[in-house]
Amino acid sequence: PALIAGVNRARLQAFATREGRRFAQSRPVTRKALEKGAKTYLDGVPMHWMRDWPMPFPMLVAEAKGARLTDLDGYGIDDFCLGDTGSMFGHSPAPVAKAIRKQARNGLTYMLPTEAALKAGRLLTERFGDFRWQIATTATDANRFALRVARAVTGRPKVLVFNGCYHGTVDDAMVELHGGQTRTRPGLVGQVTDLSTLAVSCEFNDLAGVEAALKSGDVAAILTEPVMTNSCMVLPAPGFHDGLRRLATQYGALLIIDETHTISSGLGGYTGVHGLDPDLFVVGKCVAGGMPTAVWGLRPKVAEAFRAYDAARPSGHSGMGTTLSANPMQFACLVANLSEVMTAENYARMEKGAARLHAGLAAVIEKHKAPWHVVRVGARVEFICAPGPLKNGAEAAAAHVHEVEAALHTGLLNRGCLIAPFHNMMLVSPVTRKRQIDRLIGAFDEILTELFA
Ligand code: PMP
Repeated sequence: PALIAGVNRARLQAFATREGRRFAQSRPVTRKALEKGAKTYLDGVPMHWMRDWPMPFPMLVAEAKGARLTDLDGYGIDDFCLGDTGSMFGHSPAPVAKAIRKQARNGLTYMLPTEAALKAGRLLTERFGDFRWQIATTATDANRFALRVARAVTGRPKVLVFNGCYHGTVDDAMVELHGGQTRTRPGLVGQVTDLSTLAVSCEFNDLAGVEAALKSGDVAAILTEPVMTNSCMVLPAPGFHDGLRRLATQYGALLIIDETHTISSGLGGYTGVHGLDPDLFVVGKCVAGGMPTAVWGLRPKVAEAFRAYDAARPSGHSGMGTTLSANPMQFACLVANLSEVMTAENYARMEKGAARLHAGLAAVIEKHKAPWHVVRVGARVEFICAPGPLKNGAEAAAAHVHEVEAALHTGLLNRGCLIAPFHNMMLVSPVTRKRQIDRLIGAFDEILTELFA
């Protein structure tokens, strides 16, 4: 077809080529440094997702301050990716940086708690509710451990996840719905187990599908984000979360809420703002202000059931925990972040900025009559290159238009704005300035003017 996401294909092609060339030509220092230094890495990047950026070669970061990066060639860039949420509160928030400096003189890891650990526990409960907490290093790990507990206390094998979900590199969640059947995602590297024996996939917002899956009696837990944020953003239909809670209870499954991205919603995450009632709660990425930390918590009655299970199991490797987790640096950062950064005032700033961004992008889309839309959950904004709203993961997958997105991302970067690479996600931190938001809206308008002329 001549049109892709409403854009003339030839025009898109020309734009993509021009923007790719512009990025490469304007970064001689970066290019030279990569040519000299990247060879020791597999495929030239230290973590293979870094190949998924759409630019001809990665940007090398020289400095990060507030919501702004400077690259090796000296370009200042407004950062709306913010480490894909790890730096949602801005780069090196001052209280966190101060806590790091102080702890840096006092050991980095002991495999023993500190007094700050006790304070962090109190703060976690204050922020997120009455859970029995555990500290992990990544949200992936936190989800894995939460799932292990759910299987342990229910004695059931499967996790129910939603088509198009992402919960980190948790093997069990790497399934998709294909012709009504759950199957292992075909792209999963080196996978040797048929994951449909461990997981069942349903469509988001489909309570009848969830009930049918739960009826089989083999589901230990529903693992879900409150809003699907990892494909194109899909909001829950009214009553969906109440339905999940009711069905989980009715069929004896536990409800695990993964707030790793929806922590953008406001104080206490989506759970806090909308009054969800999970059995297990997970949040990672920005919870300690960017220091690699994740937390997971069990409701007291789940904790009690687990305690009984734990006391009866043969001693030995539990499959939970990692050596460097719950280290003193994490606690120092957790305390600083929870008490001084993840505050109502900061969330109010983020909300205000994100609303401005949402309205600005929506107006540009309207102006150019693009068949696109914008969605937002608190500080997290996403434009989607298809009409909306989207109902589920299948629709979200169909709404992805990689060629358009890749060209747009490079085009935005050439205009000084960085957004997340995997889809069109933008975060507004408490230190993101109004003028940065307006620059992004302006850049978006300039690009759509070219694409939709
Ligand atoms: N849960 C959700 C909802 C996520 O979006 C992600 C990462 N994008 C994770 C878990 C995993 O986080 P990490 O890669 O830090 O382990």
